[in-house]
Amino acid sequence: MTKAPALFVGHGSPMNAIEDTPFSRGWRDLAQRFRRPRAVLCVSAHWATDGVRVMANAQPPTIHDFRGFPPELHAVQYPAPGAPDIAEHVATLLTDFGAQLDSSWGFDHGNWSVLRWMYPNADVPVLQLSLDARRTPAEHYAIGRALAPVRDDDVAIIATGNIVHNLRAFFSGDRSLEAPSKQFDDFILDRIGQRDVDAVIAYRSHPAAAIAAPDWDHFVPLLYALGAQGADERPEIFNRDVATGISMTSIGFGLPPATELAA
Ligand code: ZN
Repeated sequence: MTKAPALFVGHGSPMNAIEDTPFSRGWRDLAQRFRRPRAVLCVSAHWATDGVRVMANAQPPTIHDFRGFPPELHAVQYPAPGAPDIAEHVATLLTDFGAQLDSSWGFDHGNWSVLRWMYPNADVPVLQLSLDARRTPAEHYAIGRALAPVRDDDVAIIATGNIVHNLRAFFSGDRSLEAPSKQFDDFILDRIGQRDVDAVIAYRSHPAAAIAAPDWDHFVPLLYALGAQGADERPEIFNRDVATGISMTSIGFGLPPATELAA
């Protein structure tokens, strides 16, 4: 069976779900690059829980977990089926972390704003794994490592957040905050390229981290993709873009060689 990729996707504004942007085009094009997986295991910045939870719904509802956006966005439905059988397998893989099956959540916008471009027909089963708010970055990475075997069963791991995520800085218009955002994004990509996972886990010690990554929930999904990477897999960067307070930079592992890489 083909090994499915592990991705970290910068999701940014929920409006990417319905707008034709360089990012939404990047997601659509990326999905054309690899064979459709049996299912997607999504790790979204927008599902934080007390304890590790694995979505076991047979038909998860679409959750509109934001306010102040246009009615078109609130009307979006992403009716992909769930994957209760895979959820049970994932919970077993994560027994050491106390993982429990959960049917209280649905597909949040960290999930469907990306997946509706990758799989617009909503015909690939999807389940989500929560972020346990009690965990350290090292533990999030360890959970990602424990998840890696699902890729051998043709389940793609798609973690979504943002390497740089500081909405206060983003909306402030304070250009002095742009340099720290770029420095932090550069640093994280450089460390990933050097397979220096320890430095990524210790991201808070970077001098720009307080400005670039004050929100743990948007950063740590990256650690799941890093944990699930294969020993011989090189990272491929796509959708690279950094502005003050937001980075859309995305990373794939296990993608087939591209004839033309996305910028
Ligand atoms: Zn978000």
